[in-house]
Amino acid sequence: MQGSWTAIRHKGRDGFQWWVLSAHDARQEFTGDRHATATAMGADFAAPLPQLIAATDPENVQHWVLRDRKPIKQWSKGRATLVGDAAHATSPCAAYGAGIATEDGYFLGRRLAGVDLSDYIAVRAALDAFEAPRKPHTARQVQQAWMLGQVFHHAPAPLRPARDALLDRTPFLQKVIGDSSGEILAQLTALDETEHRFTAVRMPNAQ
Ligand SMILES: Cc1cc2nc3c(=O)[nH]c(=O)nc-3n(C[C@H](O)[C@H](O)[C@H](O)COP(=O)(O)OP(=O)(O)OC[C@H]3O[C@@H](n4cnc5c(N)ncnc54)[C@H](O)[C@@H]3O)c2cc1C
Repeated sequence: MQGSWTAIRHKGRDGFQWWVLSAHDARQEFTGDRHATATAMGADFAAPLPQLIAATDPENVQHWVLRDRKPIKQWSKGRATLVGDAAHATSPCAAYGAGIATEDGYFLGRRLAGVDLSDYIAVRAALDAFEAPRKPHTARQVQQAWMLGQVFHHAPAPLRPARDALLDRTPFLQKVIGDSSGEILAQLTALDETEHRFTAVRMPNAQ
């Protein structure tokens, strides 16, 4: 599936922030003025969004195509593996793609800790062990990000008031993707197990 999006990239004190404003039909070329379009889209939002758009250099209002990809079956081949968007390109709607990429780096580093990198079989085993639990987790996150994109940007007009009431006035989102969701608890358990294994590798006498 293919969609296209308007986003602003605002340079603040802490670096760049991205704000996705809208989705478009990628089959129709966008020829309008991006900054004026973003200004109109943000006009009815609460501060500071309109002010952020006004303060954004027009060159940083961008419009580009995002493609949703099906999960790939294998990330690793030989001594190489994939992490981040290369392994599981994620739509921005869950605001988690960079988070998953960072997790990948952490889990990969921990799996390779103590492995003799000249030992092909050991490296292969570490890469397989790295990707096996990451694939189902990241596939669910990518699917969830896609689903949120549908809910946020593609809901039929008659359903939007009900959607807004559900998202604005109930704990629905917090329950589904918040810190009480099973997915996050499972990740915390995975972190604990990984740290336990890492300690055993780095400090065998500490066990
Ligand atoms: C508008 C928008 C908003 C987002 N908001 C959030 C958010 O709020 N929270 C969040 O967690 N995620 C967010 N994301 C997703 C996040 O940006 C990505 O998931 C994340 O950047 C992926 O990191 P990565 O390192 O895998 O890939 P990238 O950040 O794409 O890094 C890949 C790098 O490789 C370089 N590269 C490519 N080809 C080559 C080559 N042949 N040789 C050398 N270098 C190469 C590229 O230039 C790039 O610098 C957002 C994404 C978008 C587009």
